[in-house]
This record gives sequence, C-alpha cells and structure tokens, in this order.
Amino acid sequence: MAKILFINPVVREEDVPRHIPYGMAILAEIARKSGHAVQVYDANAWRKGFNIVKQVLEADHWDVVAIGGLTTTYNFIKEVCRLAKIHAADSFLIAGGGFLTSMPKEIMDWVPQIDLGIIGEAYITFPEVLAKVDNKDFDWGNTLGVVHRDNGKITVNKERPNISDIDTIPWPAWDLFPLEEIYLKNSSSLFSEEAYYAKRRIDVNASYGCNLVCRYCWHLGTTGDMIVREDPTGENDVAFTYGRNIRYHSPDYIVSLVKHLKGEYGIDFVNFLDENLMTMDRYSKMTWLDELCRKWIEGGLQPDCRRLNVPFDQVENHGVFWSGTSHAALHRPEILKKMYEAGCTHLVYGLESFDKRILKKLGKGSTSEKNEQSISICLESGIKPIPNIIIGFPEEDFKSLRNTIESLVKLGIHAKPHFATAYPGSEWYYTYKDSIIEQYDGNLERYIMDLGDATKITATICHKFSGMELLGLQEIVAKKDLRLLDLAEKHWNKSDESIKPYAIPKPSHNFIAEKISAPMLKNLK
Ligand code: SF4
Repeated sequence: MAKILFINPVVREEDVPRHIPYGMAILAEIARKSGHAVQVYDANAWRKGFNIVKQVLEADHWDVVAIGGLTTTYNFIKEVCRLAKIHAADSFLIAGGGFLTSMPKEIMDWVPQIDLGIIGEAYITFPEVLAKVDNKDFDWGNTLGVVHRDNGKITVNKERPNISDIDTIPWPAWDLFPLEEIYLKNSSSLFSEEAYYAKRRIDVNASYGCNLVCRYCWHLGTTGDMIVREDPTGENDVAFTYGRNIRYHSPDYIVSLVKHLKGEYGIDFVNFLDENLMTMDRYSKMTWLDELCRKWIEGGLQPDCRRLNVPFDQVENHGVFWSGTSHAALHRPEILKKMYEAGCTHLVYGLESFDKRILKKLGKGSTSEKNEQSISICLESGIKPIPNIIIGFPEEDFKSLRNTIESLVKLGIHAKPHFATAYPGSEWYYTYKDSIIEQYDGNLERYIMDLGDATKITATICHKFSGMELLGLQEIVAKKDLRLLDLAEKHWNKSDESIKPYAIPKPSHNFIAEKISAPMLKNLK
C-alpha cells in the first residue's frame, strides 16, 4: 500500500488558521480506509516556513505527495512542488482542488513538477489513482477526471461523474489535523455574541452547490458545473457552465456527525461551509432545513438558552450553536425562526450591491428592495445578518455607488467593500481574461500569484474605473461619504468618459452560459 504525505498549503496569512481543509480531510480518510498509510503536514496550521516543509519531505520515503487548495494558495503550492521534487525525488506528486481544476493546462505548464492533476470531485478519482500508483501503472489514458503528461504533452481526460448519494462519503479525518493545538484555539469570531464566546468551533459542509449563477462565483468544478470538451484547436480543456448537480447530506448524516464531534471533541459551535443554505431550502421544496432544525433539536444539540427561551449564558451551554450563509431573496421568516430556535446565531448575506442595474447583471436573483428588507427580516428572527458588499462590478458607476451608499446609510450598515475579482473558474474570469492579461503585461501567472493577497487590488473588471479610482472609492463607500463621492464624480466623470473601458468583455470557449451539467452516476463504495 502507498505511503502518502498530504500537505495543506498556507492560506490567508493575515489571519490565524481557522479552517481545517474539509476536502483534503475527507480524501485522507478515503485513502486511509483503502488501506494506505496516511500522514498530513498541515503547513497552514503550523506556519513554520519552507525549511520545515523540506524536513517533512525528507522524513520518510513517501510514495505519494498530495497537495491541493484554492487559487489563493498557488504561490505556496508552487514552491512546495519544487521542493518535493528535490527532497522527495522518488515520490509521485499529485495536485488537486480549485487552483488546478480552474485552469489545469496552465497549472501543469507553470508547475512542471506535478506528475498528475485531479480535476473536479476527487472522491472516486483519488483512490483509483492511488491503486494505480501502487501497481506501478502510470498509463492514465482511461482514468476519468485527471490531467496528465502524455509523452510531455499536457492532456485533459474526460470529467469524472459526480457521486449521487453524498452520504456515502466518509467523515473527514479530523484526527490527522492539529485540532487541539491550533484550530480549536482559534474558535472565537466576532460575528455574534455566541460566536465570540465559542470555545470549540469546527466547520461542517452539509451540501454541494448553489443553483444561482453569480458571475464572479464558481463552484470548484465539483457541483456539476464543469465539463471537458474540445477547444478550438481540437484538444480537451475544461469548460464551466450553469449546470448544477445539487446535492445535500441527509439531516441524519449531519446530526450524527455533529453529535460525534460534540462527544469526541466537545464542540460547542459549528460553522456550515455550504455555499448557500437557502438555495438548498428551495431546492428541497422547503423540507431540508426544516428537517435539519427538527433533528438538531431532537438529537439534543439545541443550545440551552434557545430551549429555555432565556438570554445566552457563556458559561452554561450544553448545546451546539451554528452559523452559515443565507440569501436575501430566498430566506423565509418561518425557516429563519426555526433556525434560530435550533441554535443559529448569524448568517452571511452576500448582498454585494444595492443598485438595481448591477444586481440584475449579477445573476444573484435578488433586488435592491429585497436586499434592504433582508436585514430586518433576519434580525426579527433573532439571527444576526452579516452583510457582504462589493464594488468594482463591470457596470459600476457613480450612480450605482451612490445607491449602495444611500442604502448602507438607511440601514445603518458598516462595511468595507471588497473588490469584484475575477477568480479563475468564474464566468467573469473567462469573459475578461484578455483584459486581465493585458493589465499584467501579458503574464497571467503573475495575476494568479497576486490573488493570494486578499488585501491587494489585482486586475479590475470594471469598464469605467481604474484600480487607482477603485481604491479611493472603497474608502468613500466604507465611510459612506456622499460628499466625497459627489466631488469625485465632478472631477473624474468627464475625463472617465473619454477613456476606453478598463476591461472589455469577450466570449470564451472555457465558459458556456447554459445549463449543461456534468454526469452524475455512481455512489462511493
Ligand atoms: S448565491 Fe453565493 S454561492 Fe450562489 S452563485 Fe451567488 S455567490 Fe455563488
């Protein structure tokens, strides 16, 4: 059996490590269940630098080194791959996850040390690849869901069908990660009183996908949103679509998992990683969340204060609070009330903008009115809404910014907006790829490297404003300063009109704006 070393890359260095890599922890468990010897070096948790990574690579004879993460981890992954081929030269290097799935050909080109890439959902592909490595069978021609080097030529194979019953996926291998030493120590967050006093918080992913089509969002190629087809040169490449294979765990699976976490690790708070809990509510015809709340309470997970209808007590709480994501146009007062009773403390709302025109183009399925109403509807349930605001959308102008500021003032919301960023895999990435490359002097990899720093403004996808202007406008929106906005408009608007757009949209064969879903066939054995 193979001896496998997983390396979890460093992410968001400006914050303490808070999130166990959920997908990697599941893959570690799948590999362990298949009989392989599994070790994890959690570089994100330990943050000890590359010298320790070298020592870990040299610490044993690894048959496989496996690494993966989101695009924001690219710089770290690139360096680890270089080191792996020096300090664990005989091992087979496998990469996967969002950073690779979104642009497999470029990544294999930029990181020549990667032996094999796994594209999209890896739960079936990974153990199949391990079995082949074990048998010294390196012919990848018939393996679905991989990108490999075929006599030096980078070849993308057809996509792997998604698992239809996700309850067949095992629980993550939490025991292989430094829970006590690192993650549980960083349990507290500022979003609500209960979250602030959380002593032992952990992440849980209860569903896969969201059937909305926000143009800056993507679904990691794991929710039916990715197919492989021939590009104009006749070679296979990934294409992202509006197709969705929406899947959610049964409430019984989730409740038994959380009860295990409570019994084994004393968890008192769960953060649901799900893309959008409310689309699951709608997709399940309003049954899933309802049943989850009921079973959460029946399973004894309801916090005492919610059961007894008394104020939160940070000392005396025997249940498990939780948080997640919501949607301004899809939440219902009835379900919010049940969620509150079960222990939900706060929900993140990606409101993004309060401008009618921007919201219409966004694909979010919300309106400025719904966005405005959502805050009070959520507050009435007892749950705290956490709004997320973005500026720099393609059609952003002074009018849309004014509408957003006016709504923020009206609602009394304080928010420093993020910049609209075209992450690889999203519709806007492909639509504006040429403009992005132009803004990086023809060097796309430099753009990908810059995405690792969340505080940085990277390539703008805005037709009107430059990066310099957006930096100023971010401050103006954060300060809700309509006087400064008026002044900026007076000075800039005329000159902006004579400037060519900063970003120009263009169709791409890597994005199909149609509901074409990846196949969905098998369950995990
Ligand atoms: S609602 Fe959220 S998860 Fe769904 S597509 Fe939009 S940004 Fe993505």
